[in-house]
Amino acid sequence: MAGEQGRCRAGATARVFQAQTDMSDEQDIAPAFGICLSGCNLRCDFCVTGARSWDAEQGIAMSAQNVAARACQALQQGARSIQFMGGEPVIHPLFLLETIALLPKAACLVLKTNGLMNDRSLNLLDSLFDVWCVDYKFGNDACASRLSGLADYCRPLQEGLLRLAQRKSCQEASNQPRLIIRHLLMPGHMDCCWTGVARWVAANLPGAALSLRTGFWPGWKSGRHAELRRTTSPEEEAQARRIAADLGIPLAA
Ligand code: SF4
Repeated sequence: MAGEQGRCRAGATARVFQAQTDMSDEQDIAPAFGICLSGCNLRCDFCVTGARSWDAEQGIAMSAQNVAARACQALQQGARSIQFMGGEPVIHPLFLLETIALLPKAACLVLKTNGLMNDRSLNLLDSLFDVWCVDYKFGNDACASRLSGLADYCRPLQEGLLRLAQRKSCQEASNQPRLIIRHLLMPGHMDCCWTGVARWVAANLPGAALSLRTGFWPGWKSGRHAELRRTTSPEEEAQARRIAADLGIPLAA
């Protein structure tokens, strides 16, 4: 609000680069009306939305009233949830608060985040969302550093997940999972990333919903990394599911 900028370069005004209903999410929350906000605090070379996610100046400035009206219309047309995503939506707390204040209390609200936030953000946003979808992207710091430029990745991400899982809002009995941990399977990162993520979840959050996302697309700057110049194969996806089964992890549908 005072004009200071971090790595994301976002200011106090959020910009929207996409707002539409789609079916690509977990069955509990699809179809979801997704509101995509420009700007992100990570720099993943494989980011499928590329510049629109990295550059907080992309998209258009939309008022909370306008976005909330479109979200309400989507709910009337059959959307089951309203999803705030990016980029990284947590870097736009003012927009989140203003928009959510205008939405029906009964609406299912989903936050799709990379999970890298401080306690202040977590405390501010915790009770506002029915479902937290947290991307657990890398199973170790070396891959995180090489692919996203962030060397200290696992510790803050894991600490955030543990704090989130302990929150009452993530534990209440419900038909919907309150915390969904997602991992996008990357080609060539079976042992280092997927197995690392699955093992950590099995050991630390055994009851959590873990969602294995397939469909990696070698977009944006993936070509910088030899192993990311292709999609994942059906055999790799089957192997990933076997690893989860061996660890006793039921994958979210
Ligand atoms: S966290 Fe998501 S939006 Fe941000 S750079 Fe990585 S893939 Fe893109």
